[in-house]
Amino acid sequence: MTNTEKIFSFIDTYAASSEELYLEQVIEACKQWVAGESTPELNEPVTKEEIRRGLQLAILKGMKQHAQPNHQMTPDSIGMLLGHITSKLVQNCESTTVLDPTVGTGNLLYTVMNGIEGDVTSFAVEIDELLVRLAAVTAELLEQQVTFLVQDALRPLFIDPVDIVVSDLPVGYYPDDENALNFQLMPAEGHAYAHHLFIEQSLNHLKSGGYALFVIPANLFESDHATQLHDFLKKEAMIRAVIQLPSALFQSKVHEKSVLILQKPSEEIKTMPEVLLAKVPDMKNKHAMARFLQDLDEWAQQE
Ligand code: SAM
Repeated sequence: MTNTEKIFSFIDTYAASSEELYLEQVIEACKQWVAGESTPELNEPVTKEEIRRGLQLAILKGMKQHAQPNHQMTPDSIGMLLGHITSKLVQNCESTTVLDPTVGTGNLLYTVMNGIEGDVTSFAVEIDELLVRLAAVTAELLEQQVTFLVQDALRPLFIDPVDIVVSDLPVGYYPDDENALNFQLMPAEGHAYAHHLFIEQSLNHLKSGGYALFVIPANLFESDHATQLHDFLKKEAMIRAVIQLPSALFQSKVHEKSVLILQKPSEEIKTMPEVLLAKVPDMKNKHAMARFLQDLDEWAQQE
């Protein structure tokens, strides 16, 4: 068995032996592992990615039981792509700070953190308390330095500005109109879109010159309120890339996603860089994928 399989089997055996909520038992099994009370027998060396993947399998099993539409874990195919891009964008930095305002299980954040060489610390925000406990115990096992905030991430965040934001945006209306009035992206009529407000909030917490990488609905720039979003981005950010993800990753057209990369303007950036418009090829096609990643690396090197 691989380490990933052994880790899944260790957690699953513990979690499935109880009537309690499976995800609660996943947390319990991880706590025992952290405390050294009960640990899986693994082949040395054990990598952070093996631990993340083993936990991911157990969490995915638990999420089927505890299904909530807006809580879906970011799939590895998307996480790996964001991880690859981030690692290239920060490759010359000695230390990097990251914010994920919608951290969920932490799967996306840890894929990104595991890929960064050098010192990396993060802030993670999440409104669902069970997911925060899950993400927090995972951070301990991965020995990643993460500060968690259990709150509505669209409320004030008491954190220092970061180098990188990553977020798989929750899509839909934001119900708190009163709080939404604090954002430029609150429309004159009706509710604001949460995914729009998250973009604005992320830019508020980014250092000048820093990057924000979002998993967005593929139709973000065609939906209603898109003109307002466009005008806001023109004023407050530089659109650096829009990368279309393969349709095969999604159940239907309405669920399709893209990756949006923004950079916060800085005095050092004198000319507006070109926008990379790209489409991820069929991920099973190794040659096409290698070529695509090479193009991405060249784009990131221009930074
Ligand atoms: N990247 C995450 C992962 O890998 O598990 C998945 C993110 S999921 C698509 C979106 C997350 O945003 C959910 O966990 C949801 O609870 C959280 N969320 C939604 N609205 C929020 C808010 N206002 N403040 C903080 N978190 C919120």
